[in-house]
Parts: sequence; structure tokens; C-alpha cells
Amino acid sequence: MAGEPQADCLFCKIVAREVPADVVRETETTLAFRDINPQAPTHVLVIPKVHHPDAATLAAAEPTIAADVLREAGEVASEEKVDGTGFRIIFNTGSGAGQTVFHAHAHVLGGRGFNWPPG
Ligand code: 5GP
Ligand code: ZN
Repeated sequence: MAGEPQADCLFCKIVAREVPADVVRETETTLAFRDINPQAPTHVLVIPKVHHPDAATLAAAEPTIAADVLREAGEVASEEKVDGTGFRIIFNTGSGAGQTVFHAHAHVLGGRGFNWPPG
């Protein structure tokens, strides 16, 4: 069922603490942890604790939790002190756009310069 933990989902396992992660923030509805393969000096993933396959389906099903993810992305940027210089919040959506873990997540990237358009 939408929102229920999925047995085969890596990020549901991180929420359940079955897989370890370097957690930087936690709220009732979200978890933020460092990406295992960082692409910038700050690279934190912010996820909803509930399982939805991507950000768009999360926002359609549970918009207040989608807003929680966005707010937490901002809090991470502030705590990591990358909000002054600018940072990216990225939701890769679909395998063609580079999504590899199908549990909604925001990448918060900062601490270096960024190009536009992204690759
Ligand atoms: P996506 O490619 O789906 O947008 O992002 C998935 C992200 O999860 C990737 O940046 C990848 O490095 C990260 N990732 C994959 N496995 C793990 C893991 O076991 N722990 C952590 N902390 N990050 C992971
Ligand atoms: Zn999941």
C-alpha cells in the first residue's frame, strides 16, 4: 500500500535503522543523512519516513510531508552553512533522469559551484 514500508527498499531500511546511515537531522516525518557517494562537500539526502516512489507521487499523496521534506532541505543547508553561497535541492525522478533508489528523496548539494543546465 502507498506509504507503507517496502521490504526491498534501501531507504525504508535506513528509516527502520536496519541499514546504518550518517544521520544529520530527524523529524517525526523525515530523515536526513549523508549520501554514501558525495558529489559535493555537502551532499545530504532528505527523505520522508513513509515510502513513496518519487517526489511527485509523494506530493500528490501526502503534500504536507512533501513540504516537510522541502523545509528540512532548507534546514540542512542552514546547518551545513551552504545557504549563504547557494545550494541545490534535486529530485531525480525516473531512471532516465538518474533516479536509482525508488523511495522519494531530495539531494541537498552545496559547498562548491554549480553549472546550468545540469548534466
Ligand atoms: P538517486 O540516484 O536515486 O537520485 O539517488 C540515490 C542516492 O543514494 C545516490 O546519490 C547514492 O549515492 C545514495 N545511496 C545509495 N546507497 C546508499 C546507502 O546505502 N547509504 C547512503 N547514505 N546513500 C546511499
Ligand atoms: Zn522505501
